[in-house]
Amino acid sequence: MKIYFFAILGIILIIILGLNNINYFSINELKGQGYYIGNLHTHTIASDGENDYNQMVMEAVRLGFDFIAITDHSTISSTALLLCPLDKRILCILGEEVSTLQGHVVALGITKIIPSGLNANETINLIHEQNGLAIAAHPGIDLGLTPDLLSIFDFDAVECNSALMPNDQLTGCNNFYIKVYNSDAHNLEMLRTSANNCTLANLTWQAIKESILAETCSLFSSII
Ligand SMILES: [Zn+2]
Ligand SMILES: [Zn+2]
Repeated sequence: MKIYFFAILGIILIIILGLNNINYFSINELKGQGYYIGNLHTHTIASDGENDYNQMVMEAVRLGFDFIAITDHSTISSTALLLCPLDKRILCILGEEVSTLQGHVVALGITKIIPSGLNANETINLIHEQNGLAIAAHPGIDLGLTPDLLSIFDFDAVECNSALMPNDQLTGCNNFYIKVYNSDAHNLEMLRTSANNCTLANLTWQAIKESILAETCSLFSSII
């Protein structure tokens, strides 16, 4: 009886691990060597997301992502602060989506919360004081900056995608700024709608930051 139990358990484990490997391996093949993919704008239940930190990270790993940024509205949750820097499953980057007087700004690579309600330039300065990146979030839609305002601020990059417009269609996405491709995921399903494919020598936040600034991150759309 015991032998049957272990045999069945073994078969189940082989199926589960096998399926996971196929999924991960095929996405890795699509990426190519030296390329790393990830979503730099996601929400959890710490703001208006539908899933918790662990569920978002698990789904990102299942999709074959190498990195993810947690960017809840107006907060860096204690859960993210505690778990994100230590996460061994994926490179997790701390961030925040800051509501400015002109619209939403994604702050990446910060550890201290930036207050809402400031002028966009004040917010950008506070992000840079923490050595973070300031990204204009989903311009033209959903409380993003109006596209004609983009050029008067000093953003590091602009989002060209959102879950609503996943194919490089955001009206504010022009040649004035470096482009990034996030999905503004508020749940597991939205996580897959678009991602950045970055050329990196190694998987670190510093390397991702340099890759964004060197414009070697492009739209990864094979997961759609
Ligand atoms: Zn937003
Ligand atoms: Zn958002």
